[in-house]
Amino acid sequence: MGAFGLSAEPALPRARESQGRCLGCGTLLEEIWSEEEFSAGLCPRCGLIFSETGGAATDYDENYFHNMMRSERSRVEHFRRLLAGLPHPLQSPLLDVGAGLGHFLLALPPRLRPGATLVEPSGSARAYMERALGIKAYPDLESVSTERMPFAAVTLWDVLAHVPDPRAMLVQIRTRMQNGGALVIKTPHHPRRLFTAASLLRPIKKGRSLLHIPSMRTHFTPSSLQKLLAAAGFQPLSWQWVSETPLQPRAWFGKSALLHAARRIVLLHISFIVTASPVS
Ligand SMILES: [Zn+2]
Repeated sequence: MGAFGLSAEPALPRARESQGRCLGCGTLLEEIWSEEEFSAGLCPRCGLIFSETGGAATDYDENYFHNMMRSERSRVEHFRRLLAGLPHPLQSPLLDVGAGLGHFLLALPPRLRPGATLVEPSGSARAYMERALGIKAYPDLESVSTERMPFAAVTLWDVLAHVPDPRAMLVQIRTRMQNGGALVIKTPHHPRRLFTAASLLRPIKKGRSLLHIPSMRTHFTPSSLQKLLAAAGFQPLSWQWVSETPLQPRAWFGKSALLHAARRIVLLHISFIVTASPVS
């Protein structure tokens, strides 16, 4: 229970069946939150929560990558800490999906870097990596050269929650992995109680910001992500809570800092990592 004092019977809008079905198991979703044209549906079977965004999508524009570039040092250090905390050391060849500006690559130990393959959908981010790191990233999984497969390790750092069909992406990844390979997924922790807190913020229309909607399309907990992995042909191996990149100094002020504090109080843990291996 968070500091909002939420009980087991939260003041939610009456649950109703949305048109949507769970992308993990196909069960009809129950609406648990809405604000203006946005809503979210919970799968009663596996606990996955999906956003309905009315067609709105986040634009990962110049500004997004500019902010990422400015925090390169802290991001690389953060990736080093995450790597050091993994229960199984990663092996080469490695594939990083959603590479951004290549900060994870910079954090990799030298033994893993030469064989690393990057996928990044943003054209400007790919151009930057080619210019700054001399690395040619692929725009999508389909275009990755077969010579580089199968991969011994695949990493998804805050990517899976943003893609339209996470199960389809996991299946695509599985077919490109070695038996016994390791898939590492880091993603925000968005349990149902965060949606209850977001409902309380409806009068000031801040629920959507708390939930990162429309940017986040699927909302995971360690348990629901492991169910999705099993549905996509993976055996979950381990999971752990992890910290986030430290806030930039200027983000400590203003409304975003208040939302950040609210999120922290409701969630206790901001994000987590699950590791899994393909089922042979
Ligand atoms: Zn489901």
